[in-house]
Amino acid sequence: MKVNYPAIDVHSFSTEEILNSFQTNAESGITNSDAQKRTKQYGLNSYKAQRQKSIWLMILQQFANPIMYLLFFGVAVSVYLEDYVEAIAIAVVLILNALIGFFMELQARNSMNALKAMDVIFSKTIREGKTQELASEYITVGDIVVLEAGDIVPGDGYIIELNQLQVDESPLTGESLPSTKILEKLPIDTVMADQSNMVFKGTNVVNGNAKVVITAISSHTQLGKITSLVESAKETVTPLDKKLKSLSTILILLTLSLTILFAITGLIQGKDWIEIIKTSLALSIAAFPEGLPVVATVALAYGVIVMAKHHAIVKKLSSVETLGSTNVILTDKTGTLTENTIYVQVVNFPEEKIEVNIQNKELVFTKNKIEKSKENFDKIQLIGLLCNNATIEQTTNEVTKNIGDPIEIALLQLANTSQELSQKDFKRQYERIAEAAFNSETKIMGTLHNSPNGNLVAAKGSLEHLLRKCTKIQFGPTIKDLEEDEKNAILLQSDQIAAEGLRILAFAYKNGGELNKDNFLNDLIYVGTIGFLDPPRLDIKPSILLCKNAGIKVVMITGDHPQTALNIAKKVGLIDETDQNVITGKDLSSIKSITEEWKNKILSTYVFARTTPKQKLDIAEIYQKEGNIVAMTGDGVNDAPALKKADVGIAMGVRGTQVAKEAASIVLVDDSFKSIVLAVSQGRSIFLNIQKFVIYLVSCNLSEIFIVITLSFITVNAVLLPLQILFINMVTDVFPALALGLGKGDESVMKDVPKNPKEAIISTKKWIDISFYTFAISVSAISAVLYSKYYLLADDKIANNVAFLTLAFAQLFHVFNMSAVGSRLVINDVTKNKFIWLAILICTALMILVYVVPQMRLVLNLVVPSTNVLVVSGLASLLPLVLGQIYKKIWNR
Ligand code: ATP
Repeated sequence: MKVNYPAIDVHSFSTEEILNSFQTNAESGITNSDAQKRTKQYGLNSYKAQRQKSIWLMILQQFANPIMYLLFFGVAVSVYLEDYVEAIAIAVVLILNALIGFFMELQARNSMNALKAMDVIFSKTIREGKTQELASEYITVGDIVVLEAGDIVPGDGYIIELNQLQVDESPLTGESLPSTKILEKLPIDTVMADQSNMVFKGTNVVNGNAKVVITAISSHTQLGKITSLVESAKETVTPLDKKLKSLSTILILLTLSLTILFAITGLIQGKDWIEIIKTSLALSIAAFPEGLPVVATVALAYGVIVMAKHHAIVKKLSSVETLGSTNVILTDKTGTLTENTIYVQVVNFPEEKIEVNIQNKELVFTKNKIEKSKENFDKIQLIGLLCNNATIEQTTNEVTKNIGDPIEIALLQLANTSQELSQKDFKRQYERIAEAAFNSETKIMGTLHNSPNGNLVAAKGSLEHLLRKCTKIQFGPTIKDLEEDEKNAILLQSDQIAAEGLRILAFAYKNGGELNKDNFLNDLIYVGTIGFLDPPRLDIKPSILLCKNAGIKVVMITGDHPQTALNIAKKVGLIDETDQNVITGKDLSSIKSITEEWKNKILSTYVFARTTPKQKLDIAEIYQKEGNIVAMTGDGVNDAPALKKADVGIAMGVRGTQVAKEAASIVLVDDSFKSIVLAVSQGRSIFLNIQKFVIYLVSCNLSEIFIVITLSFITVNAVLLPLQILFINMVTDVFPALALGLGKGDESVMKDVPKNPKEAIISTKKWIDISFYTFAISVSAISAVLYSKYYLLADDKIANNVAFLTLAFAQLFHVFNMSAVGSRLVINDVTKNKFIWLAILICTALMILVYVVPQMRLVLNLVVPSTNVLVVSGLASLLPLVLGQIYKKIWNR
């Protein structure tokens, strides 16, 4: 039978009909070659391949902006005046400008595409009998996909096995309550919202797990059908965009008024009106903040690529700016502050405690041997094997591939040390009938099995939570009632283990009993606790110190035991050795209303333990209400609301569920706290780069206007010519400005406090800086002209050339004034930026070119400079740099 695709009304099929029509097998899935054939035939499982703007449209759009209109106008005026050389020259400038804009936009687009390619969702798929993590793009019809809480459904699918499956279908239906799924054939006329035997692409599994046959992919899915209608390249406006826009408006108004001032004074002076129009045009073009939005995008795109190299994938561009303002990081512990390479270290039975190590699949006792608790240990190993969703797969002789929660993988490794349990088909004897999936609210996982010896309940979880479900306790071969004081003694012992920094997991079970699939976690027998070693990441101590110096508060909020949390917090330098201050989830839930006292207590605590995701959200809100900018990490399905609520939601790439990744604005590839701090410092650098770009460009542009206006009063004939202004503007300021936008930043960015997110790109203080730089550049060019005219007695053309040369090089050297505040004179972020040197090289080469090529000299009205001219212009052009450095030293003191 051939696959009939797209198949309709699959919800009315039986499991057998589904498996038959899609030619697949519930246990082994389809074969790899089948999958390839189907992908070829039905396409990839992605409708997101966005229709991108064509290259031609991108080029054309470069011409549709105010500066281009001005240039076109300039060409028209020159043609009208029959000054064809000038018309061609302006046309060249126009094309150059468009090309630069185009290449920058292309660069930004490529970077963003590269980022999008990293944002892939993987799904557990069974093919040829093996479970593998497959990028959902490659999932095809007939694939068997295993879904768990936290997964995003990769395609529409028919459920063939399930365990308490609940799916949040709000992305599709808008319905906020999760839909409970069933195994059943439904009438053909059942509407989509009621098709409870199906799962749909793009929806989130919030509870339980299931196995499904994929019945539709990409545009044939329910989501695909709507998305293809609404999918359009919706560009969101970020706060940065808004700030850039208002800055542009200020600059345009400033330029216009100065230009009008220039024109009016010129007319009053009785100058040639054609010259006035041309110069005004050149001035307004010169001072127009043309590259602003594009450079900001390029700086952002470049910055996020650098972030990606440092393991932080940015999903929302606006979050980069927010990162720079972040002053509180609420981080979880496992995997972020610890290695998340988990090993069994201590096993604590009711009667004795042992320490173990697994070497080459052999159990080695490092302290004490089991004497009284053999039965307890056997049970712990069995529970660890059965109450487990991870897999260890032998890929080659030596290499194994682990999929799943590291704690569960460690338990499989423990089970594998037992001869009986390590047998390949042992697990099959215990058919799993139901599962109470682990979640960070209940902190327990349980499974119900049917075995030759009757029913068995296997459960593991946080000690406090599991003990509440236990009524009995096992002492070797005997089982007794669990007394309250025994419970307390067990809790006390585990506190000691936790205080060593070990993660604690308790184990319990029950034989026989009634088969109630929905409620089997009760009357359990407690058998023991395992302490897992999860060492702190040693490389993050400096990152935490860096945060402290950068005015960023780091708070740990974990689901783990308070003592474990405190121990790790101390080891990574989050709190002092003597600090015992920890607030637990229990403390938080006892609060009726947040009093001032509680609020202060919460705000002054650095470690929160045994919290639920809801409490994480509450803590974030308390911080936000106090005006803080909060970055928050999360991994579980229940963390999604907190990740969305935080100013920057950070999901864990390795440990994180797909739902958490989808809700976050940043995904950490390596889960490490270090990457968060690198991302924050990158966020700050990007903002500073954009700021430097603006300060540099605006001070250069304004100085051009001032020089022209001033010279037109003092020595009319030496005034810069329109084409000279255009040339300086296109050459000497654009390249260094761009290079500033691509700076890497340095450690100094983390020495300052976070910036206020409401602050404009250019604060009042920065406007004062700009005014000073404008003044310094203007003074240098004007005094060079005056010196050559009145001291060297140069003629007007030479004086004009001096103005041109001085301004061009003064602007080039001025780029070194843009180094970070308080940085060293010679070695700083600007001198270390290779793009700056490249820009200087390009600009100098172009300057030499215009002097060497006679035609260009002619167009720009230049003569080969004498030594005098070179010396005067050379020295004068260094003046803004010298003045700038003195200014920075004095002003910043
Ligand atoms: P963090 O919040 O810092 O990531 P965490 O991973 O310990 O820390 P949770 O995932 O909420 O936080 O786990 C809380 C507790 O639940 C753990 O301390 C452990 O006792 C228990 N637990 C963790 N994983 C499992 C699991 N797979 N099955 C059963 N219980 C688990």
